[in-house]
Amino acid sequence: MSISKRGLLLSGGTAAAALAVGQTVAPQLAVAQAPAVPVTWQREADVIVIGAGATGLPAAIVAREAGASVILVEAEKDIGGHAITSGGNVPLGGGTSVQKKYGINDSPDLLFRDLTDWSVVEPNGFPDYRYNDREIIRAFADNSAPAFEWLLAHGVIFVDKAPDEFGGTSVGNSVPREMHAAVMDWPMVQTGKPADAIIQKTLSSGNGLMRPLEVAAKKVGVDILLEHKMTKIFREQPDSGRVIGIAVVNNGNTVNIRARKAVIIGTGGSTGNVNFRRMFDPRLTEEYCGLSGMPWSNQDASGELAGMAVGAALWGLYNQTGEFGSNLTKPGTVGSQYGYVNLRWMPGSPVFDKARAAGLPVANWQDLILVNMLGKRFYDETGGQFTSNDYNSIKNYVQGSYLNAKNAAYNPNNFINAALAGVADGRNGGGPIWAIFDADAVVREKWDPNPPFVDAATGFFYAADTLGDLARKIKIQFQRVPMPPENLEQTVARYNAFVDSGVDEDFGKPKPLHKIEKPPFYAAWATPVIHDTRAGLRINAKCQAMDMAGNVIPGLYCGGESAGGFSQHGLARCVCQGYIAGNNAAGERAG
Ligand SMILES: Cc1cc2nc3c(=O)[nH]c(=O)nc-3n(C[C@H](O)[C@H](O)[C@H](O)COP(=O)(O)OP(=O)(O)OC[C@H]3O[C@@H](n4cnc5c(N)ncnc54)[C@H](O)[C@@H]3O)c2cc1C
Repeated sequence: MSISKRGLLLSGGTAAAALAVGQTVAPQLAVAQAPAVPVTWQREADVIVIGAGATGLPAAIVAREAGASVILVEAEKDIGGHAITSGGNVPLGGGTSVQKKYGINDSPDLLFRDLTDWSVVEPNGFPDYRYNDREIIRAFADNSAPAFEWLLAHGVIFVDKAPDEFGGTSVGNSVPREMHAAVMDWPMVQTGKPADAIIQKTLSSGNGLMRPLEVAAKKVGVDILLEHKMTKIFREQPDSGRVIGIAVVNNGNTVNIRARKAVIIGTGGSTGNVNFRRMFDPRLTEEYCGLSGMPWSNQDASGELAGMAVGAALWGLYNQTGEFGSNLTKPGTVGSQYGYVNLRWMPGSPVFDKARAAGLPVANWQDLILVNMLGKRFYDETGGQFTSNDYNSIKNYVQGSYLNAKNAAYNPNNFINAALAGVADGRNGGGPIWAIFDADAVVREKWDPNPPFVDAATGFFYAADTLGDLARKIKIQFQRVPMPPENLEQTVARYNAFVDSGVDEDFGKPKPLHKIEKPPFYAAWATPVIHDTRAGLRINAKCQAMDMAGNVIPGLYCGGESAGGFSQHGLARCVCQGYIAGNNAAGERAG
């Protein structure tokens, strides 16, 4: 399929009006800032959805069922996005049938007030919900229960029990809302095989959410184009007119797809794009390369960037840097690139060749010390990451009461901040963090410090008979300076002395328990993991994208982690916004 671009820039509405599938429009004089709009379209549909994840699949199905023809483009080889790698904990509430069945009294109003409660603060003083956009939360509250019933009607089976508080976060404190998608007998992307039969109806997993939706999408006739990566959104003019289609790249070829009604961005956020994420937090330099959900799919900000290129604004940016929730996390496994606590890639997974190692899960942070690039400890290793609000996390919660904030006991949870502080070399980024441990720790933790559990080949794991040799071996592009061997030796000697005295004089680790003294010694990648995007494109209640002047960009929708204004971890807001966007996009007048 060849596309003639040859500098044919069309100016605005005239061009768009004349465009049709396969139709070539006579070139006109290009204006300086005018975006290139395609002269030919290879495909067309009423609605184009970008990204087959938690937002995109529901959006595509809903739009199709509302009568629109739908093309869903997905960059990867398979559907699912981060959602299929997720724990499948879905906090949709507001009065679902299951909440009613178990006597839980929830309503859209209660949910709305929960998610806009100014008085909820974390122990470090950061408010969870204060900066949420009221219009967006109202839309979520009103559509939350309908979106849940819609999932049930489209084949998602939930674990048969009352909603609880386990899983997703920032879902409100008044009543339990967390539901759990049962994995059933779908092969899991983490292992490549189904879960054991005995837990298939009780194990919560994103596989159990996304595979039924894939089936539903195919059944209703959504045209799913895998390995089609959107690279551009076309609008009639850079800052006016309708959005009229997208360009995708497939196998090195560009394909232009016309949208008669609308384009929906469901690309999943921006944390995998170093320069984009550093707009929010300059500390997040390249070494944070172990994004959760990768390497199944990336969050490379392509949706945000393409939206911004046609005038979309960003929104609710505090929610990305607020120190709560799981935007930045402490790793749960060490010794591999991808150390997110709730995701282990096992041999057999379709992406194991990219993940390369399963990692060593840490059961007890007393079994190791964590050092920075210079071989120095920086914090109590047992310290936790930022916390977040959920049902039951504030005792005696009264919605909107000043006592919620007044009674919060200050506890800063600064592990992540200390890890990202760096080594005072004038550079941004904390650099690699290494877990240092010895042969005794391997026994205590029941680890096998060999492939496929550790990734020595790519530089995420090292072993040596002396601490000095261990420090000398560490070589990875993110290690900006060699680790001075004497630093690591002194750090371990000092720590071992703390074990003798029972007091960590440097960082207050509660009674250090184990010396690091028996070779071989190990250094395992333990750098923090980036997890969520909570800020993105500005949308309204209908999930229409908006520009810097607060005007709707006709024909452009967005939801999920690529959308801003809503501080909540995960699936609920994504599914719900996909549901809202799909409905509204299908209702647009064909352009
Ligand atoms: C390990 C893990 C566990 C989690 N557990 C939970 C949980 O238990 N409960 C919960 O509520 N949340 C959980 N989450 C979060 C939840 O999965 C995400 O918030 C949610 O999937 C985001 O939905 P989304 O539609 O915005 O993005 P995604 O689900 O990531 O989907 C985005 C899709 O867009 C595709 N894409 C990106 N760019 C392009 C492009 N340019 N062209 C075409 N396609 C593109 C991607 O490949 C991807 O398939 C978890 C996340 C992870 C990683």
